[in-house]
Amino acid sequence: MSPRGLTTLERLGRRLAGRPAITRRVLAPGVSELRLHSRTTRWMGFPVSVYLVHELLLDTGFAHAGPALLEALEGVELRGIALTHHHEDHSGNAAAIAARHGCPVYLAQPERQDSEGLHRLLPYRQVFYGAPRGYEPLPMPSELDTGAGTLRCVATPGHSGTHTVFHEPRDGLLFSGDLYVSRGASAIMRHEDPHALARSLRTAAGLGPHRMLTGHGGDLEAPVALLETKAQRIEAAIERVLTLHEQGSSPRAIRDAVFPGARKTDPGMALLTQGEFSQANFVRAVLDRAPLPLPVSHG
Ligand SMILES: [Zn+2]
Repeated sequence: MSPRGLTTLERLGRRLAGRPAITRRVLAPGVSELRLHSRTTRWMGFPVSVYLVHELLLDTGFAHAGPALLEALEGVELRGIALTHHHEDHSGNAAAIAARHGCPVYLAQPERQDSEGLHRLLPYRQVFYGAPRGYEPLPMPSELDTGAGTLRCVATPGHSGTHTVFHEPRDGLLFSGDLYVSRGASAIMRHEDPHALARSLRTAAGLGPHRMLTGHGGDLEAPVALLETKAQRIEAAIERVLTLHEQGSSPRAIRDAVFPGARKTDPGMALLTQGEFSQANFVRAVLDRAPLPLPVSHG
């Protein structure tokens, strides 16, 4: 991609990223992980993974790693690209790869392509990852043909309204995107929905996977217990938020009770991300998105 058209912040991000590298790992016959590293992702301790499942590419990494990823995919037969969700570290190179390989891009809720801050990335997102170039997603089908089998595509909103996990039933693989990043309730972006996330974790656990491959380098055995434990922890945190709220606690006091370290870590995080990512957002989202109280029965 020509550096023309990049914002000043993206150019700065590219300089900080250095020369992104890719580690390739075979996970099963015909299935491999391409793990993208840049100086910035090493600094954050947060690589970005894309997966090649026979002729289907799951996610496309971040824009700063575009040239390295295009090179790694040179000569690979691709019948399609499926995105776990539209965030820029997963959709960053969808346009370039689709154009090079002449294949479609699938995204759940494609009409939401520009939502969740994607229409104009905040500065920290431009610097860390760069902005995805425009692509034209097709709606996510319920199954995708990999060229050697079928992947089940399961809607799992919460982290993003567009989030989908991919289940490969033969080997019990679950490609989980950002469904499972931390082990419990955590700082979230402003648009995330903890209620939906807890339900989606239960949905993914119900698929009964044997191995979970995450969007950021996680390769986890016995994922059902991990997914259920995370769902339980989020449900417990939601319960606590709602109880404290009913007792009259302020959102800030609730945050400090649910996340004891937040008073120290949240201000820096909120400053860096202009408030887009914080533990306070978890509390706000629980309260704003709480299901309506059940109607009182007059029997
Ligand atoms: Zn994400």
